[in-house]
Amino acid sequence: MAIQNLAKLVIDNGGELKPLIISAQQTNGTGLMNPSIFNDSGKLICNLRHVNYTLMHCEGTQVFGNRHGPLAYLNPENDLKLKTINFMLELGDNLDIKRYEKIDTSKCDVEPMWEFYGLEDARVARWDNDLWISGVRRDTTPNGQGRMELSKLDKDYKETHRYRIEAPIDTGSYCEKNWMVVEDLPFHYVKWANPTEVVKADIETLQSKQVVLKEGVGELQNMRGSSQVIRYGDYRICIIHETALWKNKLDQRNARYTHRFIVWDLDWNIQHISDSFSFMDGEIEFCCGIAFDKNENLLISFAFQDNAAYLLKMPIKYLEKYTNVKFEKKKEYWRTTEYPTLEITTSIPPKGCVVDCAFCPQRLLMQKYDSVKTLTYESFVKIIDKLPKEIRITFSGFTEPFLNQRTADMILYAHSKGHRISVFTTGVGLTIEDIKKIKHIDFDNGPNSGFCLHLPDEERIAKHPITPKYIETIEYIKSVENEIKGFYVMSMGSEIHNSVRHIYSTAYLPTFWSRAGNLLGEAIIKPELEKIKDRFNHMEHGDKNMTCNCIETLYHNVLLPDGRVSLCCMDYGLEQILGNLFEQEYDDIIPTPFSCFSLCSHCENGTEPKNIK
Ligand code: SF4
Ligand code: SF4
Repeated sequence: MAIQNLAKLVIDNGGELKPLIISAQQTNGTGLMNPSIFNDSGKLICNLRHVNYTLMHCEGTQVFGNRHGPLAYLNPENDLKLKTINFMLELGDNLDIKRYEKIDTSKCDVEPMWEFYGLEDARVARWDNDLWISGVRRDTTPNGQGRMELSKLDKDYKETHRYRIEAPIDTGSYCEKNWMVVEDLPFHYVKWANPTEVVKADIETLQSKQVVLKEGVGELQNMRGSSQVIRYGDYRICIIHETALWKNKLDQRNARYTHRFIVWDLDWNIQHISDSFSFMDGEIEFCCGIAFDKNENLLISFAFQDNAAYLLKMPIKYLEKYTNVKFEKKKEYWRTTEYPTLEITTSIPPKGCVVDCAFCPQRLLMQKYDSVKTLTYESFVKIIDKLPKEIRITFSGFTEPFLNQRTADMILYAHSKGHRISVFTTGVGLTIEDIKKIKHIDFDNGPNSGFCLHLPDEERIAKHPITPKYIETIEYIKSVENEIKGFYVMSMGSEIHNSVRHIYSTAYLPTFWSRAGNLLGEAIIKPELEKIKDRFNHMEHGDKNMTCNCIETLYHNVLLPDGRVSLCCMDYGLEQILGNLFEQEYDDIIPTPFSCFSLCSHCENGTEPKNIK
């Protein structure tokens, strides 16, 4: 059943409606419309379209329209063009506007060739760490041909780059608009909602290509884009619009816009199409944005009659009731730390890590691991796509990360998806080309992070295979070390190995621990460790139930090449496998906060849950 006034229903169910108004000094009092809300990693921002006209639209029975019909654009007399200017608003938790900036387009502007100026109905997205607005522009040809454009914005909301994207198949089409940006898939748009057609834009070639085309579902197959498409749990959601043409009593043609929610699963199968609704029972209404706030309310940004912009806060419970879809609440236990981390073991070679450090329980790992040897790039991508972007990705794990030739590409991919990155490497397997690829990355500077280079020591506690190529790589790293954020060197012995001492004469020497007791057994089967076992410490907590007191708490887990995830970097015996990310979701495998593990009873980081503050 169609809903005439969604805003009222939402307010009656615990929601809220906020007008989005900026100073008339900047707008001259003309239209504010089609806002696009976006949750930028916790900061709510909203693109607000300002037009240089006021739309007069006669609603209801439309018997008192103007002489030309129910709709008229009231422009300044000396400026008959239909101009759009965009503003970016920053909103507080209460949805009040804290500040706003006119988006400065001067760097990319050229003389308009048609009467609609500017980027219309821009939707906001953050893709590959850059902030984008994307809408239709019709001022680049004398006939008003419309194409979706992408504008990259800097931190001051100044447009730095502009890309005009060609349609994927019918390159001669007149107007491409209302493609819905897909928040979690860079440069992807839902071009048509049902049948679902997803296209990907290429900002190098300025072309787009169809990447998904599904069979249509049901009768409702004239659905055009409106909001962005956003991810929530295992679903993607958007609001679409439909246009119904009709004639009023005076036989004048007019249109009524209504909207619907669409919910897809992650393979773009439509799960639900809601009843149609009007926001405030108007005939001209339009929605360009949706986002979840930190309390999981759905924020919907829409305009009424091209003149007024609003933000509607819809509690998730009401959204579930309205869409008939249960959006399972995520547990997100990892939010108990600022530094949730997944370490990546990119390979486990048949004989273990080639560096075979004395202080590393590789023999134990070899006894316990008999599975997939190499994490493929494709598998890594699948896992990263499952992770919340707040999870820090550390390339370290149970072996040297660069033993896998695709590690630099994995680093680039995880970084492009917005994850904080750290690297711990001996430099073995690392090439000069790898360094060139990744040195620009802003490696995380939080605790237990950065870019750590583990150098060989003169005693050969760590047994780096030292070749002329290895030395050349270390020399290259030295030449660019100032460009690598968070860079430092460490060694397992007090004296750096002679072969690289001319490059680094000293390095940080950490305190060694028994890796939750695992080195005690290792020493029995590894003579070189037995000789220096007085150089590592061990802590026993007895029978007490212990949890983790690291800054990452229980969320510094280690991925194995076969998709399994182990509790932490101490667990070389693979005693505490939490689950498998090839088969399960991240949220389903991570432990509840402050749970106790037997491993923690032998670890210097273990503590009793009652001691956790
Ligand atoms: S400490 Fe690192 S480099 Fe050394 S053997 Fe273990 S995983 Fe390999
Ligand atoms: S306390 Fe437990 S979870 Fe934390 S590092 Fe030690 S063994 Fe791992």
